[in-house]
Amino acid sequence: LSLSLQAKMSRPVQARRLEGIDKNVWVDFVKLAATYSKVNLGQGFPDFPAPDFLTEALTRALGGGNHMLHQYTRAFGHPPLVKVLAQFFEKLLGRDLDPMTNVMVTVGAYQALFCCFQALVDEGDEVIIIEPFFDCYEPMVKMAGGTPVYVPLRPNPPKDGKLMSSADWQLDPAELTSKFSERTKAIVLNSPNNPLGKVFSRGELELIAELCVKHDVLCISDEVYEWLVYDGKQHIRIASLQGMWDRTVIIGSAGKTFSATGWKVGWVVGPDRLLQHLRTVHQNSVYHCATIAQEAVAQGFQRELTLYGKPESYFVQLPKELQRKRDWLIQSLNAVGMKPIIPEGTYFLVADISPFKSDVPDVPNSDEPYDYRFVKWMVKNKGLAAIPLSAFYSEAHKNNYTNFIRFCFAKEDATLKAANDILQKWKQEKTSS
Ligand code: PMP
Repeated sequence: LSLSLQAKMSRPVQARRLEGIDKNVWVDFVKLAATYSKVNLGQGFPDFPAPDFLTEALTRALGGGNHMLHQYTRAFGHPPLVKVLAQFFEKLLGRDLDPMTNVMVTVGAYQALFCCFQALVDEGDEVIIIEPFFDCYEPMVKMAGGTPVYVPLRPNPPKDGKLMSSADWQLDPAELTSKFSERTKAIVLNSPNNPLGKVFSRGELELIAELCVKHDVLCISDEVYEWLVYDGKQHIRIASLQGMWDRTVIIGSAGKTFSATGWKVGWVVGPDRLLQHLRTVHQNSVYHCATIAQEAVAQGFQRELTLYGKPESYFVQLPKELQRKRDWLIQSLNAVGMKPIIPEGTYFLVADISPFKSDVPDVPNSDEPYDYRFVKWMVKNKGLAAIPLSAFYSEAHKNNYTNFIRFCFAKEDATLKAANDILQKWKQEKTSS
């Protein structure tokens, strides 16, 4: 008996589709930050409160006497939420939308992405991913049986000695063109881009659109930072370009939009011909998102629809407030010599750590990228948490980008001041030693 039991237990338990995707940078670095950091500018979430109108909407939903808000709602999205999202995106895209077929609510943008890859990518399909990229695209493509094909944004440092901007990181048009083939099923676009904060220009988007149309390729457009754009820049939706609506899925997140990442409410907007397949994945996996959170987000959008473009609008106020925080972090990093790359959007900022390299010696032939070691050292020795940039690159290109780390500036002023104090003290220790 014992022999046969043992034999059974030696059978492999892991599904083949999980091979090589078990590592996740957040699991390690979130734990590290929780253990050692005094100031956490690592993971991307605000440490300031969500707006009152949103939390009040949730309180109203809880206590407002509609006990049905505690029950299941429509699987593909609570009707008030899909309706207001459709109204909102009609305005943004300048086209009529059907809330029941052109919008679906998901558990955060993360599940929206998962639905896209599962629904649209087949065994053997290639999916183009622009580097640096939000890390989950890669394992999600692989889990669907697809092959990621990477194309990097290439930095062109300004010659006048000015600070670099995320706009100085650009696609090489010939290189991008060379990645499209008959095997290409989709391209993932993330504008504004996490981690760089790059906001793709109309010209760049037009090139991507032209290639998608030419090669009949789909576009998975992750626009979770759509409202976080600075210096008067404009976020352009690729779905509004010629020939793109029918081949684009737009992904959004209430977490980013209303500074409530823990609510995990996200959505997709797109043509029914694509969304019908996302609905199949959704109904066979998650099926349903929390009703009460959807109700409150619907009310948040209702407010924003009424105040659209007005100074009281949260979508107008939040980027203003974040631009101020961005500029402050840029200034404190610059003052100590950790060269920031000015982000045009998102609440992230990438900085060049080269001037601080001498504090953390490199270990030749180590498997661990230098920026990983640097961040671990910084968290343990200085109490400041960030995320290594090479985590946002494929294995093949990681080693070219190990001199940068990413900070999140969606933080209370007190948190940013504490970070500034750490950096100043560090700088002084460097000059006195
Ligand atoms: N896409 C990008 C680019 C992100 O940065 C994030 C969150 N960090 C997500 C998607 C996931 O969003 P959510 O929290 O709504 O699942």
